[in-house]
Amino acid sequence: MAHSIDSIIARARAECDRVGVKLTPKRQNILLVLLLSEAPLSAYDIVDSYRERYHESLPAMSVYRILNFLVDNKLVHKLETTNQFLPCAHIACDHQHEIPQFLICDRCHAVAEVGLRKTLVRELQDSVRKAGFALTSQQLELHGVCAKCRGESAMESNSSEDDDEDAPHRH
Ligand SMILES: [Zn+2]
Ligand SMILES: [Zn+2]
Ligand SMILES: [Zn+2]
Repeated sequence: MAHSIDSIIARARAECDRVGVKLTPKRQNILLVLLLSEAPLSAYDIVDSYRERYHESLPAMSVYRILNFLVDNKLVHKLETTNQFLPCAHIACDHQHEIPQFLICDRCHAVAEVGLRKTLVRELQDSVRKAGFALTSQQLELHGVCAKCRGESAMESNSSEDDDEDAPHRH
């Protein structure tokens, strides 16, 4: 992660102040649990990590309520396909947040948040509409194998693949 956790928390607090909501200690602690995790967590994972880390039990209902707050304020994203949560990768960034797209590694469960070109998102929306569907979520969740896991399997099988020429931009 390019930004330190302290600077991410400071930005999250500033953003909450700006829109007039409060990053209470519990909200901040749950955000921290997610920032310190290498993979996305379910609400029940968070209940467990929270208890281990802060020696305090939070009922699952409170965790859900706090997660909703963090998602509403775009500090945390929810993966609809796995029902897990992860911190936004752009909390400390200055650029505008686009419709988040997620690449989910099916081996190590790492998740990358990427930006897709607007034209691509628009094309997708067009074909969805032509099929008579109305999107309830614009978020894309693509499952695959991350670079690290691909590297490990490439070493095993000694096969090589070219890097993606059209890699999605990260920042
Ligand atoms: Zn994000
Ligand atoms: Zn960014
Ligand atoms: Zn992986």
